[in-house]
Amino acid sequence: MGETFPMKGGDSEYSYTKNSMYQKKASDAVKEMIDEAVVESLDAEPTSTKVSIADLGCSVGPNTFFTVQNLIEAVQKKRPSETLEFQVFFNDHSGNDFNTLFSSLPQERQYHAAAVPGSFHGRLFPSSSITVAHSSYALQWLSKQPQGAPNEGRVHYCGAPEDVVKSYSDQYEKDLSCFMRARAEEIVKGGVLVLVVPGTPDGVSHSDHPADVIFCYFGYGLMELANEGVVDKDKIDKFNLPIYAPTMGEMKRVIENNGCFSIEKMELTDPRSKIDGPIDVAKLVMHMRAGLEGIFSAHFGDSVVEKMFAKISDKAQEMSQFFESGYSKSTQLLVVLKRK
Ligand code: SAH
Repeated sequence: MGETFPMKGGDSEYSYTKNSMYQKKASDAVKEMIDEAVVESLDAEPTSTKVSIADLGCSVGPNTFFTVQNLIEAVQKKRPSETLEFQVFFNDHSGNDFNTLFSSLPQERQYHAAAVPGSFHGRLFPSSSITVAHSSYALQWLSKQPQGAPNEGRVHYCGAPEDVVKSYSDQYEKDLSCFMRARAEEIVKGGVLVLVVPGTPDGVSHSDHPADVIFCYFGYGLMELANEGVVDKDKIDKFNLPIYAPTMGEMKRVIENNGCFSIEKMELTDPRSKIDGPIDVAKLVMHMRAGLEGIFSAHFGDSVVEKMFAKISDKAQEMSQFFESGYSKSTQLLVVLKRK
C-alpha cells in the first residue's frame, strides 16, 4: 500500500470540517439527481429489510452525513411500505480522523454506523453485501504519484506536456479499474453505485479547467520559492500531485471494460449551480489547504508549505480573474451505475 495523506482532521481553522463547504455545495447541486436515480435504478432483491449503505472516502464530515441521509431517504422512497433497518459504513484511509467523524454523528440518525478503514482501490466488504455505495470528491485521488515523464517546474498536469497528462490518465484508468472490480464483488445484484467526481469536459484544455488552474498556481508559488533559494527546483520537478479529473470517455471505457454494471446516468453537471455570486478564491485556497497540506508537507516540509500557501494567497486576486474568465460550468461528473 502506498502512503496516504488524509484531509486535515480536528476542527481547527484549517480543518476539513471547517473547509469543505464548496464540496457540500457541489454535492447539493446533484442531490436531487442522485435521489431520483437511486429511486429509479435500485431494484435489489427485497428479501431482507436490512439495507447496507457505504460512503467511500467519507473524510471527517460533515458532508458525508448529508449524503448518507439523502441516500437513506431515497431507499425509503423506493420501499415505502416496509420498515427498513440501515447499516451505514463510513470508509476512508486508516489515517483518516475517524474520531472527529464519529464524535459528530447526527444524534437523530436512523442507522447503525461503522467505520471501514482501508483503500477503496481494494476490497472493503464481503461479497454481495452492499445495497448502495456512494463516493463524492474522493475518486480523483490516485493510488500513487504518476511516474515516468519529467514534469519540470510543475506539480500537476495543468499546462504540462502530453506525456505527463498521459502518465496521469494511465494511472487513473488502472486505479479506477481496481475500484470497479472491488465494487462489482461487493454490491448486490440490482444495487447501485453513485460517483461524484471532478470531471473534464471533452475538448476543454486542462489549462482552462478551474481546479487545474489552481494547481498551476501551486507550481508558480513553489517556483518563486525555488528562485529565492527556499526549495530545490529538482524537488518540484519530482513531485506530481496524485489527483486527476477524468473525461466522460475515460470513465465510460473503464466501466464498460469492467462489464458488471449498467450505466443508468452519466452526465457533466455544474458544481457551482448552488453557489451565489463569484467564488471566493481565498476561501477556496483554504479548502485546498485542508485537503492537500498533508501531501505537500510530507514532500516539501512544513515551512516550505506555509510559504507556498502565503504565495498562493497573494495571488488570489489574479486567480479570481482567471477563474471567472476560464471554463466553469460542467466540471462535475455524476455517474449512477446498477450492478447487473
Ligand atoms: N466525500 C467527502 C470527502 C471528500 S475528501 C466530501 O464530499 O466532502 C476525499 C476523501 O477521500 C479523503 O478523506 C481521502 O482520505 C479519501 N480517499 C482518497 N483516496 C482514498 C482511497 N483510496 N480509499 C479510501 N479513501 C480515500
